[in-house]
Amino acid sequence: MQKEIVSIILEDFHKIMGEEWKIFQEKIIHNCYCSKCNSAYDSTIVDYTVEINDLDDIILRGKCDKCRYPINRYIETGENEENVEIIEEIRRRYAMN
Ligand SMILES: [Zn+2]
Repeated sequence: MQKEIVSIILEDFHKIMGEEWKIFQEKIIHNCYCSKCNSAYDSTIVDYTVEINDLDDIILRGKCDKCRYPINRYIETGENEENVEIIEEIRRRYAMN
């Protein structure tokens, strides 16, 4: 059965990233692709929401800080078993609400 797409709060996103949170803030967030700026993955994503997709990967949906064009950033979290355990716990919690 395909897993559901779940929108999560920043706090839970932080939990999933764990020790990689610092890398996220220093690198990933500033290395997004904006098709309008035609940036080589050097745009910064702002005002983003966070989703867990059917593969337990993370998708950020936000805007380019320069031009405000909508941009997404995909983060592969579903390959890491430790992440998946945390994601399962979050899925259960959100399913109850
Ligand atoms: Zn842009």
